[in-house]
Amino acid sequence: MDNSFLIRNAQALMTGLPGAAARHAGPSLRVVNGRIDAIGTLEALPGEEVIDAQGCVVYPAWVNTHHHLFQSMIKGDPHGINCSLGDWLEATPYRLRPAFDEATFRLAARTGLLELALSGCGTVADHNYLYGPGMTFDPSAVLFEEAARVGVRLVLCRAGATRTTRYENEHASVPAESLEQIFTDIQRLKHLYHEDGDNAMRRVAVATTIPFHALHPHEFRDMARFARSEGLRMHTHLNETIADREFSQDLHGMSPVAFAEKHEWMGPDVWFAHMVKPDADEIATLGASQTGIAHCAQSNGRLGSGIAPIPALARAGARISLGVDGAASNEAADMASETHFCWLVHRAGRGSQTMAGALGGKADGNTDGGADAVTIEDIVHWGTSGGAQVLGLPAVGSLECGKAADIAIYKLDHPRYFGLLDPAIGPVASGGTPNLRALFVNGRKVVENGKHVGIDTEQLRADAIEVAHRMRAFSAN
Ligand SMILES: [Zn+2]
Repeated sequence: MDNSFLIRNAQALMTGLPGAAARHAGPSLRVVNGRIDAIGTLEALPGEEVIDAQGCVVYPAWVNTHHHLFQSMIKGDPHGINCSLGDWLEATPYRLRPAFDEATFRLAARTGLLELALSGCGTVADHNYLYGPGMTFDPSAVLFEEAARVGVRLVLCRAGATRTTRYENEHASVPAESLEQIFTDIQRLKHLYHEDGDNAMRRVAVATTIPFHALHPHEFRDMARFARSEGLRMHTHLNETIADREFSQDLHGMSPVAFAEKHEWMGPDVWFAHMVKPDADEIATLGASQTGIAHCAQSNGRLGSGIAPIPALARAGARISLGVDGAASNEAADMASETHFCWLVHRAGRGSQTMAGALGGKADGNTDGGADAVTIEDIVHWGTSGGAQVLGLPAVGSLECGKAADIAIYKLDHPRYFGLLDPAIGPVASGGTPNLRALFVNGRKVVENGKHVGIDTEQLRADAIEVAHRMRAFSAN
C-alpha cells in the first residue's frame, strides 16, 4: 500500500502530547495509508517496508506557525542587522520588497521550505504580505506550488493592508489594497486551495500585518467578521515590542489585546505572532479565550524585542505554538535552532529580570525563568501538537494511533549526542543541525538520510548565490 511502512526499534519516541503522555516506550510504529496505525512492540508484516530506526529518536514533524518565506533571500542585510523592529522593517523587508520578481520570490519560498523540511518540519504557516497594486505575479500560487514541490503542508495567511503604514519612506511602505480587494482575493484562494480535512495539506487564513498601521479599526473588525463568515482562521502580529504597546495606548487608549478583543479578534480561531509584551490583564484575556500564540523566540532575540512570557500565557490557558518568523529577522529560520533556543531562553529569563532590577531597569512582567521554567516536553508539545491545534489541524502534530503520519526520525550519530543519558531530548537539548534519517508528511517521504528526496540543494545554492549578489547591489543603492 502507498504511504505504509514500519519504523522499527527506535531508541526513544516523543509523542508531542503534554504531560505524562509526552513519551512512548515504542519502540516501533506502523503507518498504514499515511496514518499511524499502531505503536508498540511490532513485527514486520509480509512485504512491509521497514525503516530501521536503531540509534534514532522519533518525533512528530514540527509545526511552524509563523513565517515570511520571501525573506529567505534577504537574510543578514547589513542595513538592518542591528535594528529594532520598526527600523528593521524600513531598512530591510519593506525597502527590499521591490526587488522581488516571481523567480526571486519562488527561490526564497523553496529555500525557506527546504530549510524547514531539513530540520524536521512538516507544516508551515506563511504570513505573506506581498500583495497589492503593482504585483506582477500571484505569490499565493507560488507558495502553494513550492509547498507541494517540497512536500510540506502550507497554511497561507493572506495578509492585507488598506493603509500604507506609518513609515514615511515611500520605498519602505506597503502598497495598499481596498478591503474589498483583500476579501475577493481570499475568497478566490479559498476556492482554489483551501481543504477542510483534519490533515489538510492546504489551508488559507485571513491575516493582516500590524493592525494599528495596516487597517482602520472598523476594517479590522470587518476582517474578523469576514473570516468567520468564511470559516477561516485569523492571524496577525500583535504586541511584538514595547513601541507597539505604547502606540496602541496612545492612539486607542487601550492595550493591544484589549484593542484586538474590542474588534472581535480573540478566541481559538485566532493566533497572534509574538505577544512579547502583554500585561497581566492581557495574559488573562488571551488565556480565558484560548487564543493562539506563535512564539518566535529567535526573532524576538535578533530584533531585541524581549522574551515573551510564554510560561505565564500557557498557565493562563492560551494555546502556545512556535514560529521561526522570517529569515530576515532570524538567520536560522529552522525549527531545530528555534526549539533549542526557546528551551534555553526561558530558563535565562529570571537572570535577566534580576539584572534589570539591579540596574534599575523596568520590569516587563516576565517573572518566569530558572532551570524549571520550561521542559523539553513543553517545547516538543508547543512545536508539534500545540501548533497543529492553533492551526486547526486536529489529526496533525502527535504520534498517536489514527493521526496523520507526520514523522521525523533523527539519527543520533554525531559526537554531540554521544554520552547522552536521555537520548529522547537530543534533537532539542543538544542543538545543532539534526541528521534526519527521514521526514514523512501524511506518510509521504520528504527527506531521507539528510537529503530532500526531490530537490537539488546544490542547484538551489547556485541560484541563491546569484540572487544574493543582486540583492546586495539593490540594497546598496
Ligand atoms: Zn512576522
